[in-house]
Amino acid sequence: MIFGGIQKNSLIDYPEKVSCILFLSGCNFRCPYCHNPQLVAETKTPPDFLTEKWFLQFLEKRKGFLDGVVVSGGEPTLQNRIPLLCKKIKAMGYPIKIDTNGSRPDILKHLIDDRLVDYIAMDIKTVPNSYYPHIAKENRPETILSSIRIILESKIDHEFRTTCVRPFITEEIIRKITVLIEGADRFVLQQFQDTGILNPAFFEATGALYTGSELRRFRTLSQPYVRVCTIRGIND
Ligand code: SF4
Repeated sequence: MIFGGIQKNSLIDYPEKVSCILFLSGCNFRCPYCHNPQLVAETKTPPDFLTEKWFLQFLEKRKGFLDGVVVSGGEPTLQNRIPLLCKKIKAMGYPIKIDTNGSRPDILKHLIDDRLVDYIAMDIKTVPNSYYPHIAKENRPETILSSIRIILESKIDHEFRTTCVRPFITEEIIRKITVLIEGADRFVLQQFQDTGILNPAFFEATGALYTGSELRRFRTLSQPYVRVCTIRGIND
């Protein structure tokens, strides 16, 4: 298990819960707008104290204060011991939210089938057959489609999230994504933030940012297909 860091308290990362966030290192994607470049490149050195044993002791001490645990990354499903870690966290009584890029549907299914996760937040970067080459190193749209299907068919609370940035997102692409996730609990449209990202040069010439009114237009298109569609990152 490669730990990347911890945020001890959060009021916004697990809906309606006070949570802590455990960041795991390593990712198989290279989203140019990624805000965790050190986790992706595995160059971030976690604090010396951050071991599995320390983390479980931390959770023990925070019982009664924390309502849930977010396991994020990087891409947490890349780590083979993730089911075991979730099992230990669940045994302490904590609900778990996983943040994922959806590239490991087999692991997601395992976590769901074994009741090791309570909330899944999956990023959808663009239409699945356009992840390669700028997001993913391989063209494997079937993995993304499979993860979407597994989540929708599960009884697990979930959300799908899309960072709205050119060229990955257009109005037409939002329409296509919305059809893919029809019936979802929640669709979150995220405003692009250009500070501290993995590859700022990628966006230099593209006029990447969407305005608040353009994001609201996307929400209008998506809302009829999902239970809740929200915008994150603008004063809405
Ligand atoms: S945004 Fe997520 S999926 Fe993309 S590179 Fe960063 S950690 Fe990986």
